[in-house]
Amino acid sequence: MSLKFYNTLTKEKEEFVPIHEGEVRMYNCGPTVYNYPHIGNYRAYIFADTLKRVFLYNGYKVKHIMNITDIDDKTIRDSQQAGKSLKEFTEFYTEEFYKDEKMLNILSPDKFTKATDYIDEMVEIIKKLLTNGIAYKSPDGSVYFDIKKFKNYGKLSNLVLGEQKENASGRIKKDEYEKDNPQDFALWKAWDKEDGDVFWETSLGKGRPGWHIECSAMSIKNLGEQLDIHTGGVDNIFPHHENEIAQSESATGKQFVKYWMHNEWMLVDQKKMSKSLNNSYILKDVIDRNINPISFRFWLLMANYRTRVNFVWEALEGAETALKRLYKLYIELGDEMGKIAKKYQQKFKEYVSDDLDTPRALSLLWDLVKDENVSNADKKATILDFDKVLGLGFDKIKMAEKVEIPEDIKKLGDERESARKNKDWKKSDELRDKIFSLGYKIEDKDGGYEIGKI
Ligand code: AMP
Ligand code: ZN
Repeated sequence: MSLKFYNTLTKEKEEFVPIHEGEVRMYNCGPTVYNYPHIGNYRAYIFADTLKRVFLYNGYKVKHIMNITDIDDKTIRDSQQAGKSLKEFTEFYTEEFYKDEKMLNILSPDKFTKATDYIDEMVEIIKKLLTNGIAYKSPDGSVYFDIKKFKNYGKLSNLVLGEQKENASGRIKKDEYEKDNPQDFALWKAWDKEDGDVFWETSLGKGRPGWHIECSAMSIKNLGEQLDIHTGGVDNIFPHHENEIAQSESATGKQFVKYWMHNEWMLVDQKKMSKSLNNSYILKDVIDRNINPISFRFWLLMANYRTRVNFVWEALEGAETALKRLYKLYIELGDEMGKIAKKYQQKFKEYVSDDLDTPRALSLLWDLVKDENVSNADKKATILDFDKVLGLGFDKIKMAEKVEIPEDIKKLGDERESARKNKDWKKSDELRDKIFSLGYKIEDKDGGYEIGKI
């Protein structure tokens, strides 16, 4: 099956041809770990995960790296405000990010790379750029990339030099007069007192890396000088990805990335969800409303990754209801596992391989569930097959249904039921707590109770 994706570089939907046969080298720009990622950020990671799953579904081997930006202006600023070391501060949010990823059923990359583990590699690239005369050192010791020296600057974002907004990223050295041209961006930032104890002593001097060089160094080190796929949200196109291209291609002399792919924004009241606009929610807000994180994933899959989505709670609640219905229908299919319905599988593959047309793939899933010509057992096998791409956790429902409750727990459940019938609420509560402490939960139902694993 041929795969087609929209490539931001060529502004066209193109057939995917890997650089190395049968293999995809993919890099995702990951989170800046200065706070809990908001659910808009998770749109970027769920999109990248769906893409990876489509490659796996089509039989590709995927070499996959995602970075953790644990050094930049924001991580320094907020760790100082919190009175914590940069490491302690960023490690906390990195762990929180990993937990969220698990709850969203996002497949782990081969490696999460932390920027602070790649300082040597960054220095090496910067030195190459200095030697080639593409980068220059300013009087304070910072190093800048001279964008005039890279003839293709702007090819990704269709930028015309001169029209570029200065300081557009907010992540370049603040002192404009250090630079020959205000549009040049920092590769290395010489230490100043605002950085406190965050610095590296390197052959470039005492300082820290610029944001953009981090991703070039981590991707090249782990995936080689040429990548098949590089992803991020549309706000990464300029300046971050434009600058990654400039640095990497100037250092290696090769095309850095073949297919650049970007997800559109998640909006709130028609404005981009972002921490700075104070309109963001985190995954815990979703859970606190008793909504399964997977329902959020399901809701996102209802739209193509290249269309904007407007976040409202009612929509998410609607997705939760629909997903619960699907789970129930799946359980009602029974225990027998049949064969994948080939006709459905063919269509499903066609849809998801067409620039990740997940809305169409989901409507096919509903068609399948309703199709009276497919046996229950075959439906079950086909749903599990689709779920390799959708990641809605159908495989886990089965496991949950199969949990065997040990005899001693069942006995405690019966004792609690008698206490409840005798209106001995104290004893009943104590037994509920005991059951909980042993790893099980008890729920009262009409005319009885049910025990399940926590
Ligand atoms: P950051 O941690 O700010 O570097 O962002 C992490 C990822 O989330 C990047 O790929 C961003 O492009 C993406 N992103 C940030 N805000 C949104 C949003 N509102 N909708 C979709 N993607 C976003
Ligand atoms: Zn990046």
